Amino acid sequence: MDINLSTYLRTVPDENGYYGEYGGVYLPDELRPAFQEIAEAYQAICHSAQFISELRRIRRQFQGRPTPVYHCERLSRLIGPCQLYLKREDLNHTGAHKLNHCMGEGLLAKYMGKKKLIAETGAGQHGVALATAAAFFGLECEVHMGAVDIAKQAPNVTRMKMLGAKVIEVTEGNATLKEAVDSAFRSYLQSYKTSIYCIGSVVGPHPFPLMVRDFQMCVGSEAREQFMEMTGLLPDAICACVGGGSNSIGFFTPFLADPIEIFGVEPLGKGTKPGQHAASITYGKKGVLHGFESYLLQDEKGEPLPAYSVASGLDYPGVGPEHAYLHDLGRVKYDTVTDEEAIEAFFKLSRYEGIIPALESAHAVAYGMKLARQRKSGAILINCSGRGDKDVDYVAEHYGFGEKYL
Ligand SMILES: *Cc1c(COP(=O)(O)O)cnc(C)c1O
Repeated sequence: MDINLSTYLRTVPDENGYYGEYGGVYLPDELRPAFQEIAEAYQAICHSAQFISELRRIRRQFQGRPTPVYHCERLSRLIGPCQLYLKREDLNHTGAHKLNHCMGEGLLAKYMGKKKLIAETGAGQHGVALATAAAFFGLECEVHMGAVDIAKQAPNVTRMKMLGAKVIEVTEGNATLKEAVDSAFRSYLQSYKTSIYCIGSVVGPHPFPLMVRDFQMCVGSEAREQFMEMTGLLPDAICACVGGGSNSIGFFTPFLADPIEIFGVEPLGKGTKPGQHAASITYGKKGVLHGFESYLLQDEKGEPLPAYSVASGLDYPGVGPEHAYLHDLGRVKYDTVTDEEAIEAFFKLSRYEGIIPALESAHAVAYGMKLARQRKSGAILINCSGRGDKDVDYVAEHYGFGEKYL
């Protein structure tokens, strides 16, 4: 199937935010005008030369972009002859790709004259990236977080507060991400004249899947150019981990028209039974959650199933609508990696390359290693979405220092 990239970017999603049959806006009537306002503002502002050049300056001077592409020579010698390369989003300011869209959302808020950024966070990574953007732009930041998550993710709560964000503890229901989303929506409904909702991945109602993809595309555009400059060729395959799907869609999009294989890696956790994984495309069905339509992990009644992965940034029971679309088109292949395989990759990359990846990113590394083992030649480019400093205590406690994996 051939894709022309500029046609694709002009036509996907359509004006109502649909990627084929996925996406859209599924919201109570009272919330629709707020998201409509964001969609209209984004369409108007995103093409302005001033917005684009200001975002470029931020990328360069504040975030430290472009992040490099790195050839993993020792790991390739271990696993090769196929060669492994990493796009180093772990070197982006704050240590992961999430800041790419948070800075875009913050800049949009500034152009729209908003005073406050509102969001929910699960593990706290989105909250920290957004609090960073708010501090940079001099905006208020209100992050809704379940009480259970607050207890589990103390360092991220501290970081958010240090950056000046207000963390709202949500105690209803299971007191985790779902309740935090509901609480953030309620707060937004009351204050949307002066604030903006900032979603943390390519999920939620239109225009977020589009906007977050656009803001993350710097990852793939840089990587494509850097890889060609290093090797004179395109990679044979690329891969990235898929939670909501923001780092992967930003990485994949600039390569969509190229004659290469593209793989999205979903977390298989502890196994294939409901509750053991978060592989929404591989095991999900079409449904609506958090304001958009896509593949979701759900029971017979359509209620969302609990999602699990050792990587807390991947344990979401849905996936961005564009991934559902690219899956059905057959342009991107989606496959899975277990906790155990991700842990092995975490230790291998740490010991052979001196790069401790985030557990999320370790899923992509594990898949790249799996592909390399099957091939006699060629090159695989993996998106390393973030660094693993946040994960080292957990990994050491549960898996030691990796003797059995090396
Ligand atoms: C949040 C996170 C992810 C998962 O989010 P996507 O939207 O799927 O990219 C992946 N890697 C890291 C390091 C993260 O913090």
